[in-house]
Amino acid sequence: MTPFAGAEPLYLDANATETLRPAARAALIAALDRVGNPASVHAEGRAARSLLEKSRAAIARHFGARPQDVVFCSGATEADAMAIHGLGSNRPILIGATEHDAVRAAAPNATTIPVNADGTIDLATLDRLLARQNGALVCLMAANNETGVIHPIAEAASLCAAHGAILHVDAVQAACRLDYDYLALGAASVAISAHKLGGPKGAGALLVAPAHADALAPLIRGGGQERGRRGGTQNLPAIAGFAAALDTAQLGNVARLAALRDAIEAGAREAGAIAVGADAPRLPNTTCLALPGLSAETQVIALDLDGICVSAGSACSSGKVARSHVLDAMGLGALAGCAIRVSLPWNASDTAPARFLAAYRRLAARALRKREGFSTSPEARAVAEPAII
Ligand code: PLP
Repeated sequence: MTPFAGAEPLYLDANATETLRPAARAALIAALDRVGNPASVHAEGRAARSLLEKSRAAIARHFGARPQDVVFCSGATEADAMAIHGLGSNRPILIGATEHDAVRAAAPNATTIPVNADGTIDLATLDRLLARQNGALVCLMAANNETGVIHPIAEAASLCAAHGAILHVDAVQAACRLDYDYLALGAASVAISAHKLGGPKGAGALLVAPAHADALAPLIRGGGQERGRRGGTQNLPAIAGFAAALDTAQLGNVARLAALRDAIEAGAREAGAIAVGADAPRLPNTTCLALPGLSAETQVIALDLDGICVSAGSACSSGKVARSHVLDAMGLGALAGCAIRVSLPWNASDTAPARFLAAYRRLAARALRKREGFSTSPEARAVAEPAII
């Protein structure tokens, strides 16, 4: 019996989706009773419209955008696609090697910008590539979802400006975790997702810099919503929750999360793990831990049986564990198949490291035995690994 047997699941998968913030839940529920369509002219429509615009203004304020430059959509997969199709259709496209599939799938013929061994973008190669491409669109994530590694966006934006290129920033994982204003740094557009910052699933936004607002061609046409830039009735309850989540998202929480993450990482390293990307600047809540000898899938399942929710590098929608292009791009080789992502939610408890590490040490012992080809009797194994398949 572990001391945590029978406890609630320990949720350490915030980069997949954050825990809903109470203010977001309240705003979402209240907005469910707003019957009107924001496009209708009658009183109920106007009330819905007013809530929509209030939410837009709050989101714009938070990210340093003008309200008219916030284009609501279903989430960041759509926001990334909107930027790539809407701003990049007549431009050569360059994407970072560790971009999310939302970007990779929207730009299948893009030129890839390699990353350094620590996962940060290779600025010298970006400079060289931009010198050969006229007026390119560069897509770069602010922080990586698998490793938490933060890219030097300010430097990339300067290179883009110097070469007449424009920059789209996927700020999904950075929002509310890092204190940056990407539009002020020179980005042409920024993708944000509500459910990655403690809001509801199903809402996101593309923030467009004023200089590019008129150039954005719609990806989805229809009833003229969002100033003709994204057709379809807005998901008002999710958007109201999105704005409320931002109101209560405190960057002050970040130091506490970093301390919890560091405790997890130190304990895991003592047990034999390698912390991927740890030499680079990283998100405060994320660590990517490779345990040589044990597949990521086995680790995720074993931890799940111990009531701990983490992800392998990248999980596809079928729930299967796909090989991580992020870790491959960082040159991890065979280690790429042995890495899990631990990402603390905004409301992580102070007991999270102890509980995680109790289970992780058993996993690490199992990996060690596997590496050494060590085998004990089934009885002895059952004692050492009570909850592991
Ligand atoms: N970009 C990054 C960096 C992400 O981590 C994700 C989701 O995992 C997305 C884009 C897609 O976001 P959404 O779930 O809102 O479509």
